[in-house]
Amino acid sequence: MKNKINHIVGKYLFETLVSMKIAKDQISLNVNEDGFVLNITVEKHISQTQIDLITGKLSKTLQQHADKEAEVNPASIKFIKIRGVSGIVHEGQEADSIFGFASNSKEDFDATIAAIEDRESRDHRKIAKDLELFFVDEMAGKGLPIWLPNGLALKNSIKNYIQQLEAKYDYMPVETPVIGDVSLYKTSGHFYHYRHGMFPLMVNQENEEIILRPMACPHHILVYKHKPRSYRDLPFRIAESVKQYRYEASGALIGLERVRAMELTDGHIFIREDQLENEIEQMYSLITEALKTFKVDVHYIELALHDKNNKEKYHGNSEMWHKAESLLRNFLDKNNIQYKALEGEAAFYGPKIDIQIKTSLGHIITVSTIQLDFLLPEKFDLTYINENKEKVRPIMIHRGVIGTYERFISVLLEQTKGALPFWLSPRQIVIIPVSDNNLEYAKRLNKDLIAHGYRSKVDSRNERLSYKIREAQMGKVYYQLTIGDNEMNAGTLSVRRYGSEEVYEYKTFLDFIKHLEELKIHHK
Ligand SMILES: [Zn+2]
Repeated sequence: MKNKINHIVGKYLFETLVSMKIAKDQISLNVNEDGFVLNITVEKHISQTQIDLITGKLSKTLQQHADKEAEVNPASIKFIKIRGVSGIVHEGQEADSIFGFASNSKEDFDATIAAIEDRESRDHRKIAKDLELFFVDEMAGKGLPIWLPNGLALKNSIKNYIQQLEAKYDYMPVETPVIGDVSLYKTSGHFYHYRHGMFPLMVNQENEEIILRPMACPHHILVYKHKPRSYRDLPFRIAESVKQYRYEASGALIGLERVRAMELTDGHIFIREDQLENEIEQMYSLITEALKTFKVDVHYIELALHDKNNKEKYHGNSEMWHKAESLLRNFLDKNNIQYKALEGEAAFYGPKIDIQIKTSLGHIITVSTIQLDFLLPEKFDLTYINENKEKVRPIMIHRGVIGTYERFISVLLEQTKGALPFWLSPRQIVIIPVSDNNLEYAKRLNKDLIAHGYRSKVDSRNERLSYKIREAQMGKVYYQLTIGDNEMNAGTLSVRRYGSEEVYEYKTFLDFIKHLEELKIHHK
């Protein structure tokens, strides 16, 4: 449907431009994924209103051009919407680009426009800018987000929850450095298989070769290897909020969705073979619990398998691959989990289950992951001592709960349109005193709320009350408390929630705190 509409728009715009007496050869036509873009070389800027008002017939030449691409008679076009006009460079010259949508069916047209508007309102880059979460400054480097206080508040709320969840599932937190000796990555194979995603090698004054790490797996392997392990020590589960750096082409960078500096909710588990099935179940349950708490909309689950013909990427014996792949497949089948099995999508060390999400730009991204690995334990010669005092190779699992904070926050912002639940809201409460008379009281309340662990601020600016309320609503502050003489004298609270016109009364400060505690405990 979208393509059809694009074609129709193209024809319609040609028509309108022709009636504006612009020479045909000055107009070119490009169809892109998102809509229709016309590049025209005109001196005068064409405004949206002008175009909306123009109607006319297609010229013969243009009709021919249009027929090649469209299936619908342009004469039947009844609905059109110009989305905008912007300056571009076309064939080396500055030009205006006009984009819009049209249809002969009101239903199609309305649905498409609604979908486009919805998608635009979900763009996490715009939302993050409005909420003052982060920014990227080329002076600091491309794809390197700088987190502002609001963004960090959101990130830390998520992090606290993830760390609690990991503790519940018996993970031990560790911390490892962001750089590492090249031998670590040569042993793991990342240096050979993942070179394209790594920043160039650093050589220091002592000629040591250092890598800015693209992942923490090799470090975590050393944590396991640090001491002799017995079968009783397994499963050995470690977790870290890993800061890591990956090279991405500058043209591929997108807001928080595709960055060069990221923080991953990483974890590695070392187990005996007989523990594998149970461990996958545990891990899957941890991931589902997290995604449920965040109410994330999952697009599909992918079972990523190796490609038998790609011996360059997929080393190891085929028996090992077969065993690992059928284990994951059996788990999904047994639990009635719908999935797509894709060959050639596995990591070079093993197959994986990926939880995939669709972004507002239509990209499919991985958030959570469970990756089996029979290869790295081999390369690092990992062992444990079994009941018979023999050395046995453990199996390793790589696990991401919600992927990187960067990607996950972009998903949260898109799926909620920035209207985050209270527990995640970067700005939970703003207190607005009605007059100067109420300012001191408002400040005291604010102190109490902060002491209870909430993110609260007083808006003491010399602005009108309605302006402050409107601004707090625009900034998606979850609760707005207006404090006037009535509230001050009675000790009550008048509370307005983001997105609601209603004002709730709380009889006492403690009643309000109780309500907030409820929200916090239940992740609402
Ligand atoms: Zn890993």
